[in-house]
Amino acid sequence: MVTTHNLGFPRIGAKRELKFGLERYWKGESSRDELEALGVELRARHWTNQQALDLVPVGDFAFYDQVLDMSFTLGNLPERVQGFHGDTLDNYFRVARGRSAQSAEEHAGCCGGVAAGEMTKWFDTNYHYIVPEFTANTQFNLDTSRLSEQLREARTLGVNAKPVIVGPLTYLWLGKAKDESDKLALLPRLMPVYRALLSHFKALGVEWVQIDEPILVTELEPAWREAFKTAYEGFEQRGVKLLLVTYFGELKDNLDLACTLPVDGLHIDAINARDELALAAHKLPAQSVLSVGAINGRNIWKTDLGATLDWLEPLARQLGERLWIAPSCSLLHVPVDLASEEKLDAGIRSWLAFALQKLDELNVLATALNAGRDAVAVELAANAAAIAARRQSPRVNNPAVKAAMARIDAKLGNRQSAYAERATKQAALLRLPAFPTTTIGSFPQTAGIRQARSHYKSGALDYAAYQSAMRAEIEHSVREQEALGLDVLVHGEAERNDMVEYFGEQLDGYAFSQFGWVQSYGSRCVKPPILFGDISRPRAMTVEWITYAQSLTNKPMKGMLTGPVTILNWSFVRDDQPRSMSCYQLALAIREEVLDLEKAGVRVIQIDEAALREGLPLRRAQWAEYLRWAVESFRITANGVADETQIHTHMCYSEFNDIIASIAGMDADVITIETSRSDMELLDAFDHFKYPNEIGPGVYDIHSPNIPTEAHIVQLMQKAAERIPAGRLWVNPDCGLKTRQWAEVIPALTNMVAAAKALRSQAH
Ligand code: GLN
Ligand code: ZN
Repeated sequence: MVTTHNLGFPRIGAKRELKFGLERYWKGESSRDELEALGVELRARHWTNQQALDLVPVGDFAFYDQVLDMSFTLGNLPERVQGFHGDTLDNYFRVARGRSAQSAEEHAGCCGGVAAGEMTKWFDTNYHYIVPEFTANTQFNLDTSRLSEQLREARTLGVNAKPVIVGPLTYLWLGKAKDESDKLALLPRLMPVYRALLSHFKALGVEWVQIDEPILVTELEPAWREAFKTAYEGFEQRGVKLLLVTYFGELKDNLDLACTLPVDGLHIDAINARDELALAAHKLPAQSVLSVGAINGRNIWKTDLGATLDWLEPLARQLGERLWIAPSCSLLHVPVDLASEEKLDAGIRSWLAFALQKLDELNVLATALNAGRDAVAVELAANAAAIAARRQSPRVNNPAVKAAMARIDAKLGNRQSAYAERATKQAALLRLPAFPTTTIGSFPQTAGIRQARSHYKSGALDYAAYQSAMRAEIEHSVREQEALGLDVLVHGEAERNDMVEYFGEQLDGYAFSQFGWVQSYGSRCVKPPILFGDISRPRAMTVEWITYAQSLTNKPMKGMLTGPVTILNWSFVRDDQPRSMSCYQLALAIREEVLDLEKAGVRVIQIDEAALREGLPLRRAQWAEYLRWAVESFRITANGVADETQIHTHMCYSEFNDIIASIAGMDADVITIETSRSDMELLDAFDHFKYPNEIGPGVYDIHSPNIPTEAHIVQLMQKAAERIPAGRLWVNPDCGLKTRQWAEVIPALTNMVAAAKALRSQAH
């Protein structure tokens, strides 16, 4: 008999109950008891949802983040929150978000104002975890309370609990040594705490423990590989069985290591590493379990159950009882339940599976393996029909898009002339001063704007009324920008709810869920649009707004688009073609928009690639390939314009050292980046590379309510000018201003424009 299990379940709740519960609690609108009760209720519901499985994960729930939970279990709290008033959960939220609930902050006067823990993306997903902090002096201290309590809850419900923990090497790897000390040197101090935790599980009668070590799918230094051996050998005689869990990629040269560590089973992500299953089955010791992640835990498509059984059945015959099956990774990365989607087109809906549907699929696979395919003939037939319908659907396959894809050649991504020549022509046309000023696109999204958009969506507002509301907003932001004296203006993006959704909604090949929320961090969720088919653009998407904005001013108006790589990286994408293919299709569609803007007389066009860096594969060896098609997609999008048209791009980060050649390869005339917090040191990458085109290093930290002073901006720009020739510098904020208030934006931009003027007069 095959064993079924799950690695983790989305904790946010099908209706985002956890989000709303947390936010009520933080605001002081609900009590601690209510929050705790919500946790109990969600855990119970989710375990009940998973009841049909042989083993159910416990410890995957977190009020904020599972890595932060692990830090608390290990007693690794940053020094700055130690010695605080309040209890563990107060401290937990202090690390998570800089403050606990309102009611717990009575002591704000004596000990308030903690810096929140740094957040980083969890491997190559869009989930963000709180980075564990280390110093050479870090001590660990076991706190089993959370896991004990949750195991007790699970037992009362009668589920077969499998505690889930982050393994010691992955835990160290995810963290940051604040004093630049060697994190690995902490392993000897960490090991006794893990050993005590395993003994604790043993005392509680736990049989299996899931120990996540996803770093085994990355390129590990020899010292780290060695440390794996030391650590896991240290777990011998533990009295519980360990399932070593990997996901998100292939183990490659870590496969041998993973198969020989003294554990009781190994989980491999068969969506990414199916080719390694046979080798693992061969290499694992005769008693070891091989857990196969047969269902994609990160995407929302139905599994092709027949095709999966074709390769699982021989493995089941070979391994017998030793075969376990599960989703490829925690289901944290998918929405909870497709059943709540009432508005989704029925055809597309029949192709999808969210977390609950994925668990059903897992059970069908298990029954087929245990009792033969006949035992689930009806389910398999329905699945096969849905898979076939999707494959053949004319909504997925658009011959015109396929033909356009076939016509892509190198020329499509090339500008007519080199940058220097373009720059001369653009300067003649745009007549911008030195240190030109601009903003990144959005202006404050006021309550009025949101209301107009949502009324239009619900039908309460007709198009004419909606259009005039948006036009009024555009006019307001244009007048403000003229009054501020900015040089290149924007229309303000009032009509956009989200920089990806806005375009997805207007492209053919995209669908939208109502409740397809996925946790991004803490209480924050995103609802990624679903890219299901060949992408095409039935009509212009932004031209009407930009041309209206341009009609209001003699200053150049910047057209504002989201680039193909960012749209791709922030969507659920097709699994029936390579990501690069979908990206090229997006590139062709956005290219048409670029050309339409140009035709309509727009002289400056910005194509945001906020998420280009996020798409980098986990293994360095695969970076070049990703960057090749990502850069090519941008070039196809942007570079069909005349020399006189100025192309901008924007990126929401500033680490460019390792990808600077690719950034230069995009050949945008101007790139704006986020630099204000780094004191311009991050421009070094551009300096060393001798980045040839224009750069706007952000001088206004839009994530903070603080207003930058003129002097501070001047100082930042002077530092920038030490690295980049002043003639190629722009002056702009770090990112869009949609989350700020006009009352903050006006003084900040006033100072920014004044700083640019000061710089110009200094230059003379
Ligand atoms: N143009 C977008 C804006 O200004 C860019 C946002 C982003 O980079 N995340 O909001
Ligand atoms: Zn940005």
